[in-house]
Amino acid sequence: MAVLKKKHFADYPADRSLGMLAAIASATLSGAIGCAVSVEVHVSNGLPGFTIVGLPDAAVREARDRVRAAVLSSGLPWPMSRVTVNLAPSGVRKAGAGLDLPIAVGLLVATGHLPPDCTEGLAFCGELGLNGSLRHVPGMLALADAVSSPGLVVPLVDVHEAALVRGAGVHGVATLSDLVLVLRRQSPWPPAPEVDTDVSAPPGPDLSEIRGQMVGRRALEVAAAGRHHLLLVGPPGSGKTMLAERLPSLLPPLSKEEALTVSRVHSSAGGALPTGGLLDRPPFRAPHHQATIVSLVGGGNLSFRPGEVSLASHGILFLDELGEFSIAALEALRQPLEEGLIRINRAGGSVTFPADFLLVAAMNPCPCGEGVFEGACKCSVVIRARYRRRISAPFLDRFDLVVPICRPSADDLLSEVPGEPSANVAARVAAARQRAAARGNEQPTLTAEANDCLRQKLREGALSARGFSKVKRVAQTVADLEGEDVLTYNHVSEALRLRAGRSAVIA
Ligand SMILES: [Zn+2]
Repeated sequence: MAVLKKKHFADYPADRSLGMLAAIASATLSGAIGCAVSVEVHVSNGLPGFTIVGLPDAAVREARDRVRAAVLSSGLPWPMSRVTVNLAPSGVRKAGAGLDLPIAVGLLVATGHLPPDCTEGLAFCGELGLNGSLRHVPGMLALADAVSSPGLVVPLVDVHEAALVRGAGVHGVATLSDLVLVLRRQSPWPPAPEVDTDVSAPPGPDLSEIRGQMVGRRALEVAAAGRHHLLLVGPPGSGKTMLAERLPSLLPPLSKEEALTVSRVHSSAGGALPTGGLLDRPPFRAPHHQATIVSLVGGGNLSFRPGEVSLASHGILFLDELGEFSIAALEALRQPLEEGLIRINRAGGSVTFPADFLLVAAMNPCPCGEGVFEGACKCSVVIRARYRRRISAPFLDRFDLVVPICRPSADDLLSEVPGEPSANVAARVAAARQRAAARGNEQPTLTAEANDCLRQKLREGALSARGFSKVKRVAQTVADLEGEDVLTYNHVSEALRLRAGRSAVIA
């Protein structure tokens, strides 16, 4: 790190009788979206002190200590003056440590250690370490999107992420003292680090690795084609998780806009993006059944972080052992399932994250796990009934597909013939989706036979009014997969088979 030559207060002298003011452009995160912020630093004579106003959260309030240590570590003096930092607009909650850098720069300008015009056309985002190093800021993608200045200064580690949305004009610096040298025009901007942008995420597990499981495979295909929420019901060891993990490989790659949304959410969750580019594959998230509600839906006391429902946006949220999730956890999924987003309200304000996912869940039909087969279950009637009450009927209704899964047969397991690879199925899924998109909201036409079949089920009470419309929707997806316009008896009866698992889990 460059050690700066100590200079006196008035390196860049000015009339200080009224105090000195600097305004630095920056941004803060609101959910996964960035908001432009102007950091105003006022230094005046008076009792030495440091105040931050303008709805700072705890991390921003702590900026004073980090900025002070970083300034001193960089060989610059800390002013014995009254320092007021105002974060405008005052109505927006300012979160995280990314405002450290603009506060430090504003302070150095206001105290005359940087030339007053050196920040023109530049915005600054970065957390400061006590030694003056610049650290990674969560959500750089969204922050970089929010600032309007032509230039943006960020920590070296965040350059490639900021550049994804801004292209040129992003400068990465490693330390505050390096930055001071550049802003004093004593050294050029450091060169951008090289990033391999061709690294794409490794492909997920492939369907060809699964032997047999014809019903499960078909369920995945229909779920992917029609975006139907899917519940797999079967005994332990039947391969429910293996099936679910392969669903992302059947989904089309994300569009540019979806990739931006997904990358923004993952970036605001704290981690730097894993590759040199945007996340372009549908995410797969599998929270444990003991996960806290906050980790599921987002929030937290100190900062608003996206939860699993948001990290799964445009991908899969997989709930294994569905029966073990608390009722409160499943209840918390209601808003995302209905609206495709999650609103988090706390004393410090409210934020909205996207939460538009395909829900896939797996469960045992009963505690012994064998209840999906007639006569195989060893559970008592009471235990079975208690287990089934854990999933409420309204929650079960979220699933268009409730599919019984059996253990693969010995023949299937020993078979040398690989299953159909994901790429083939994904091609059918893409074609079916195109067909559905071209059709729009047109009501399906049913053959007389298909109509009779549904009417019969309604009369028997085997189908509720809600179930009726769901079966029609699934039958439509099956027809789309087969490239047919009219819903036939076969389409409808396959749709009925794909919800046959309901009888094994409903009380
Ligand atoms: Zn049982």
